[in-house]
Amino acid sequence: MNNQIEFTNEDFEEDRYSRLRLIPWWDQEKLSNAVIMVVGAGAIGNELIKNLTLLGIGKILIYDMDLIENTNLTRSVLYRAKDVGRYKAEVAAERAREINPDVHAKAFAQNIIDDVGLGVFRRMDVVLGGLDNREARLAINQSCYKVNRPWIDGAIEALNGFARVFVPKQGACYECTMTETDWMLVNKRKSCALLTHEQMNEGKIPTTPTSSSVIAGIQVQEMLKLLHADRGLPTLAGKGYVFNGLTHDSYVVEYQKKPDCMSHDIYEEIIEKQWAAKTTSIKTALEEIKRELGQRAVIDLDRDIAIKAACPCGAEKELFTPVHRLKGDMLICPACGRQMTFESTHTFHGSEPYIDKTFDEIGVPLLHIISGRAGMNIRHYEFTADADAVFQGI
Ligand SMILES: [Zn+2]
Ligand SMILES: [Zn+2]
Repeated sequence: MNNQIEFTNEDFEEDRYSRLRLIPWWDQEKLSNAVIMVVGAGAIGNELIKNLTLLGIGKILIYDMDLIENTNLTRSVLYRAKDVGRYKAEVAAERAREINPDVHAKAFAQNIIDDVGLGVFRRMDVVLGGLDNREARLAINQSCYKVNRPWIDGAIEALNGFARVFVPKQGACYECTMTETDWMLVNKRKSCALLTHEQMNEGKIPTTPTSSSVIAGIQVQEMLKLLHADRGLPTLAGKGYVFNGLTHDSYVVEYQKKPDCMSHDIYEEIIEKQWAAKTTSIKTALEEIKRELGQRAVIDLDRDIAIKAACPCGAEKELFTPVHRLKGDMLICPACGRQMTFESTHTFHGSEPYIDKTFDEIGVPLLHIISGRAGMNIRHYEFTADADAVFQGI
């Protein structure tokens, strides 16, 4: 303790990361320049964010649309009793900044399936998942592959858990690992559009702060190796670390890449456009794309947009929302109360009556990437003007 007297305050400030730097391959600058997305700020997410913050990760984007409940307090080091009722993402970001002021953390109370543009994923060094459902994992996997970014999934149940690393072009992706049961559960969830968010959260999984810290620790260690890719360290790309908390046995499984997997499509070339989802209309974007690809060009979205609902009684209703976001009550006929059917599309030709709508008005998120297609010629266009809004404040 006595030797502390020799340090000045400045020495202590310089010292913050010095024990980390003792690791021969460590480059703290890679960490301070890193941009990491954490999806889910529950049991695993708390441990992920805690680790990222201690390590001095430069920018952390935290996605979670849930509010803190009393029951979260047993597994969430970042939350206090007084935080109950606040957004998990907001409190987690606040605490991250408090633990380490070098860290720029931003909260997004958004749904990862619909609300996050591909250009956001494209700007991440690594995406970390602390999720409790397959549908969100599937969405992250598809987004990460399109823009060629790695992601690391974590899952826990009671004392057990696993961590899996998915890197495009390096072995299996998340979808390759999905079994028939997984698909059945995803489809069941998709068909549950009538259920409320709370009801969908039923069938809760028992989790502990101990298993979440083990698994999140492995995830962040894998992230560190991915950030130091030039050091040639072994990673778990295409593999999973399986942890049995009853025996404390652990092992690594290698997943088989499925040749017919639908998720391996990578957007090779992405053209940055000064378009913004809230101000650029379908018409404006399509005109520009036609100038580049020819008059036959169309716009393709990576999601289906419900355009309008119709009832046998003749009543019609505009929807303009991603099909995934449709809720049962949106399809009840306002005139007669019967169930309406809806029309949806993901392709825009230019003759649509709603062509003057902005992309935001049809449910396309900020900083998204759309595709222009003329025959076999496909180009991908990013709404780059949205980047400032997404990254504002960090
Ligand atoms: Zn796959
Ligand atoms: Zn009707």
